[in-house]
Amino acid sequence: MDDASPIVPAPLPASNGSGEARATALLAAVDPRLAGNGAGEPPGDLAALLAACRDVVEDPAFPTVQRWRADGGKVVGHFQVYFPEEIVHAAGLLPVKIRGAQVEPRSADSRFGSYLCSILKTSLEVALSGQIALDMFVTHPICDAARNLAGVWGRNFDYPCQILYLPQNANSRHAAAYLRHEYDRLRREIEAVAGRAVTDDDLRRSIGVFNTNRRLIRRLYEIRRTAPWKLAVDEAYVLVTVGGLIQREEHNDLLVRAIAAIEARPDAPQDRVRVVFEGGFCEQPPLDLLRVMAQSCYVVDDDLMIGLRFIVEDVPPEGDPLFNLAEAYLERSTYSPVQHDLRKPKERMLLERLHGAGATAAILTAAKMCEPGLEDQVAYAHALDDLGIPYFVSEFEQNMSSFEHLEIQLETFVERLLFAA
Ligand code: SF4
Repeated sequence: MDDASPIVPAPLPASNGSGEARATALLAAVDPRLAGNGAGEPPGDLAALLAACRDVVEDPAFPTVQRWRADGGKVVGHFQVYFPEEIVHAAGLLPVKIRGAQVEPRSADSRFGSYLCSILKTSLEVALSGQIALDMFVTHPICDAARNLAGVWGRNFDYPCQILYLPQNANSRHAAAYLRHEYDRLRREIEAVAGRAVTDDDLRRSIGVFNTNRRLIRRLYEIRRTAPWKLAVDEAYVLVTVGGLIQREEHNDLLVRAIAAIEARPDAPQDRVRVVFEGGFCEQPPLDLLRVMAQSCYVVDDDLMIGLRFIVEDVPPEGDPLFNLAEAYLERSTYSPVQHDLRKPKERMLLERLHGAGATAAILTAAKMCEPGLEDQVAYAHALDDLGIPYFVSEFEQNMSSFEHLEIQLETFVERLLFAA
């Protein structure tokens, strides 16, 4: 189905949940502003929806996850960047994106060296402090630091901690078959946690739910590119990110309502520089930093939470669902510094992102101590220099709370571009 097809949220899979309680709308359940009108319909108020998403995304107590567990549900936490959440969803469990939090890593600090990025430490911190409880944790060897996370995590908790080995060589003709095998191993681990089998039909139904989700998120980004005055980068960010904390069916429903309300916003385009934000693939910048950027320019595309939208087309539901998921990761996907594919040179991919969004400049950021991010930042800068495309270089940490300096620098950068135009 192409993007022009009507977007309709998929119904809850009939054999996918374990009872009425699990079908609860988690976001609505934790936020009274979304309690609805008593007739089962949440309000169509975009401001309330955005505020609820923002609060849930920023809450280090993970209220939607707590709610899910209180109803008897089990949770699989998966570290950044990409994870095939369909497999967890097909087992009737809640897949939760582990992306750190704005907390002081008091306990986690002693488990890691001081030279590591924040997301590793704050992710473990919220688990050690009991703010999030899991039934399984999965990480990926995306970098030396994340490679060791399952080992460190596993020494602190008695639930299964796994590493999912995505192919190191995406160009091998065996990569899809290898990854299908790896996904099957993961399926068996998840079945043990769920206490039930995950059939191919379960997976096909979940793929359908996630295909709808991908289409809706693509629509959000299309709005960003074509009418950025209707949807700021921080607003889009909370709408996407909350999907990693609630049931995907509820996320689909939420996005349908949000998109309708965003499209109805009155047109008020301003004379602003259009930029692409690059560097949010793993550790996430604070929401306030995104707000600062939104005040200065139109951020018309980005790689924030790219794992939730790494696959850029529908995954075919027919045939072997695990193979289809594996093939989609390799053949129907965008790019990130932690997927190594010679067909997707990062510099060319960034230029395509700029071109596709009609952006005239870039914000090149990297999380502090993030080796993959900092490496690619250099390559991006060289490519933009060669083409004379202006860019703004910055570094961030998810715990930073002062943006004054950065705000002034960014405003200066933007003004220089406006006056040069
Ligand atoms: S932010 Fe960078 S260094 Fe840290 S876990 Fe992610 S990819 Fe690795």
